[in-house]
Parts: sequence; C-alpha cells; structure tokens
Amino acid sequence: NIARLEELGYRVVRPDSGELACGTEGPGRLPDADRLVEEVRAVLAPKDLAGRHVLVSAGPTREPIDPVRCVTNRSSGRMGYAVAACARRRGATVTLVTGPTALAPPAGCEVVAVETAEEMNQAMRSRVTSADVVVMVAAVADYRPVDVAPAKLKKKSEGLTVRMERTPDILSGLASARGSRVLVGFAAETEQVRENALDKLKRKGLDLIVANDVSCPDRGFDVDTNAALLIDCNGEEEETGLLSKEQLADRILDRVVALLAGSGRRRVANRRR
Ligand code: C5P
Repeated sequence: NIARLEELGYRVVRPDSGELACGTEGPGRLPDADRLVEEVRAVLAPKDLAGRHVLVSAGPTREPIDPVRCVTNRSSGRMGYAVAACARRRGATVTLVTGPTALAPPAGCEVVAVETAEEMNQAMRSRVTSADVVVMVAAVADYRPVDVAPAKLKKKSEGLTVRMERTPDILSGLASARGSRVLVGFAAETEQVRENALDKLKRKGLDLIVANDVSCPDRGFDVDTNAALLIDCNGEEEETGLLSKEQLADRILDRVVALLAGSGRRRVANRRR
C-alpha cells in the first residue's frame, strides 16, 4: 500500500480526485501530465536545499491611480516562479510572494498574492525571520501615485497630471535586519550592466546580484530565456550565456548553496566593503 511504499522511500504521486469512469467521484484519476513531470523533476533534482526556507518575490507590482487605473510594468513573473519551482525541487520549503501574473502557481509552494509595493513589503517583512534565503526577483514599481482617487477619474480635455512618490526599497529594508540570511537581488539594466550591478550589490548589502541586460529582445522581461551576470559578495563573477529561466534559476541556486555553505563571518566581512 501507499504508506508502506513511502516508508520504503518511494515517492508516490497520489491520484487526482474527480469524476471516475465507474460513475462515482473521488480519488482515482490520472494526475495531470504537468504534475507528473514536476514530480519526476523533483525526484531527479539534488536535495541541496533540504531543510531551508526560501522566500521568493516575483512579478510586477500594481500601484493604483483610481479604482480602475494603475501604474505597473512588463514583468511576467516567469523568472521568480522559476526560482520558486527549482528551490522546491531541490528540497526547500518555499514561500512565493507574487504580484499579479498570468502564471499557474508553482507546485508545492506557499503562494502569497499581493498587488502594491507596500503590500509586497509587508508580506516579505512578516515572513523574512523564518527564511534562510531571500530571492527578490519582483520588479517592484519605483514610484506610486501620491493620491489614489476614491472614484474613477473623469476624462478631461486638458490631460492628467499624476504626482508620484517613491515606494519603499524592500530589499534594502530586508538587508538592514538580515542576520545570517543569504540575500539575492536582481538588476535589470540597459547599459553599464556590470558597474550598475556591482554598485547595487554593495549599496543594498547583498550576497549575490543577478544582472541582466534587458535591452536585448531574447532576455529579461516577458520572454522564456534569460542571460545574466552573477556577482557575489566574495567577488566571484559568472556570465551564464543564454539559458532558459529555469536553467538560470538553478545556476542562481547553485550559488546560493555555496554561499550558505561558506562561513557566515566571511560573507559579513566581505559584503560591506
Ligand atoms: O534598484 P533596482 O530597482 O534596480 O534594484 C533591483 C532589485 O531591488 C531587485 O531585486 C528588486 O526586486 C529590488 N527592489 C526592491 N524594492 C524596490 C525596488 C527594487 O526590493 N522598491
């Protein structure tokens, strides 16, 4: 029986529930092919994040102007969802804090849906203490309207001026109370990728930065592929070349595993230089 197989170390994919051929309802349906593939991938993945809690943010944020209009960006959420899925396959407990996306939630992850940068900030802050690793992939809006109109603004011929203010920098806020946690940030750049990424690594107090040139059509926002420059707080750099977002997620997690294994003291000494 299933319990005995699990005791012996087999991973059992339990049947889906629903309408059955014999006319009754209940467990007994062949699980979805995507779920089967996901389970096989999880079995094959190394379990080098077992026992770790990985907190990931993904997607855009949406800052309201009025009840029907908002300011947002082109992030699809795919990179963050890939990090969450790969971390879970590698044995981590995963919490995914996500802005609005069209993606299916990754299997086996706790998913927390948010809209605004402030909601994402609260969601990340309230979960960070239990996390060993934070990967901040979300494309957080940098500005939000100062005043949110309570009713839909009427169209006027003279145009509309919306005054904007800065949103909180979530990652910098998390870095100030980081403990021995590994903090990973992203840098989407259109020029001077390395210089800007190094600056962000230091300024935000990160352990690892994943920088990509979003001016090329085959990488970055809203495509399935990405190519990044990984720079860590020990000065290690790696150009990944063009990869799928899942392959890049695994490269990032390889680095995270190395940083977790490295001495905390060395990281703290190096990252504030
Ligand atoms: O400064 P910049 O927005 O380029 O930094 C990108 C990194 O900072 C990303 O990891 C992003 O998720 C994070 N970020 C944040 N809060 C913001 C803006 C960016 O945590 N308000």
